Amino acid sequence: MNKVILPNSTIGIIGGGQLGRMMAIPAKQMGYKVAVLEPECGGPLSQVADYEINAPYDCEEALLRLLNLSDVVTYEFENIDGNQISRVETKGYLPQGERPLLVTQQRDREKKAINDCGFQTAPYERVDNIHDLKQAIEKIGYPCILKTISGGYDGKGQWTLKSELDLENVQSVVATTPCILEGFVLFTKEISVIVTRGTNQQIEVFPVAENIHQNHILHLSIVPAQIDAKLRAKAEEIARSLIEKLDFVGTLAIEMFVVGKDLIVNELAPRPHNSGHYTIDACNVSQFEQHIRAICGLPLIKPDLIKPAVMVNLLGQHLDYALEMWKKPEFSTAKLHLYGKVEAKKNRKMGHITFANQCEVELSEQVHQFLNNFPK
Ligand code: AMP
Repeated sequence: MNKVILPNSTIGIIGGGQLGRMMAIPAKQMGYKVAVLEPECGGPLSQVADYEINAPYDCEEALLRLLNLSDVVTYEFENIDGNQISRVETKGYLPQGERPLLVTQQRDREKKAINDCGFQTAPYERVDNIHDLKQAIEKIGYPCILKTISGGYDGKGQWTLKSELDLENVQSVVATTPCILEGFVLFTKEISVIVTRGTNQQIEVFPVAENIHQNHILHLSIVPAQIDAKLRAKAEEIARSLIEKLDFVGTLAIEMFVVGKDLIVNELAPRPHNSGHYTIDACNVSQFEQHIRAICGLPLIKPDLIKPAVMVNLLGQHLDYALEMWKKPEFSTAKLHLYGKVEAKKNRKMGHITFANQCEVELSEQVHQFLNNFPK
C-alpha cells in the first residue's frame, strides 16, 4: 500500500549540495522538516536544514542516525555506496532503495539497463586493460570516447580518441581504472527529460530541455527544446517507459543525443538534474517539489510550462559578471538562485539564473544581451 508522509514529518537527504538544498526549500514550504547527512558542515543544504549530521556518506552509524531521525530518506546524488544503503535500508524508510544507485553508478551497467529496456545507446565495450582497449577500438573504430566506469562528471574521466596517436595518453588510465569505450555520436543536439514516478506509481514528465555545454559543463538549458513534435513525443515516451521498466521511484533525469530522427540515450541520473532547474521558475511545479511529492506518496502534479525559459548556469568565474548584470533594471525579471557556497572556484557550480518570457524572440534577445560579455 502507498505510504503517505505528511508535512511536519522529517525528510532525510543524503548529500548536502545544491540539489539537496533545492529539494529542501519546497519541502520546508510545505511544512516538512529536513535532515542532512553530509561530511562537510555548513554547506548549501545545511544552511536550510533543521538537522545536520556530519559524517562520510557511507558511515553506517551516521546512515542509521539519519534513518532513525527521518520519516523518509532520499539522496541528492548517485555516488553513494549502494551496497551500504542496502545494508541499512530496512532500518528506516528509503522508498527509492539502492537499485537506482547500483544501476547508474557504473556506466556499463547503466547502458545495459537502457538497452534491456529496448532503447539505444552509443555502442560500448568494457575496458579493463590495454588489450581490451585495442580490441574495443577494433570493434567500435575511431573516433571514440574512453570513460571511467564510475565517478566521472562534467567531462572529468573522459578522453576522446581520434587515432592511434591518442593511445599513449590513456595507457596509464586503462592500466589502473576500469573504463568503457564508447562510439563517438555525431549528434545535432543534446536534450534531456526529467521524469518522476511516485510511490503511488504515478508518472509525470517535464517538458524536454535542449542543453548547450561549454567545456563539458552545462551552460544553457533552453525550454521548450527546439526539436519537432514527433521527436519531442518520442523523448517523453522514452522517459516514461524507462522509469517504469526500471521500476525507479523519485526523479530521474535522462540525457539524450539527437541523431536525425533518432534518439540515443547517453546518461541517467536518479535525482533532480541541473538541466531541470528551469522548472522552478518556468513550470507550475518544480522537479524538486515533484521529487518530494513522489517520495512522500502524494499525488504528482502534471507539469506545465508556463513560459518558455532559458537557464544559465553560473560557475565560479561567472559570478561577478552575472551579479553586475542581474542588478540592472533590464534584467529585473530574471530569477537568480545562488547555492550558498563560500568559495567561487573556477568551474564550481555557484548558482543559476532563469529567464522566462512568453515571447520567445524577446527571451532570446534578453539572454543574448545578458551573455554578451559572459566570461569563459
Ligand atoms: P557524460 O559524462 O557521459 O554525460 O558526457 C559529457 C558530455 O560529453 C556529453 O554531454 C556530450 O557533450 C559529450 N559526450 C559524451 N558521450 C559522448 C559520445 N558517445 N559521443 C559524443 N559526445 C559525447
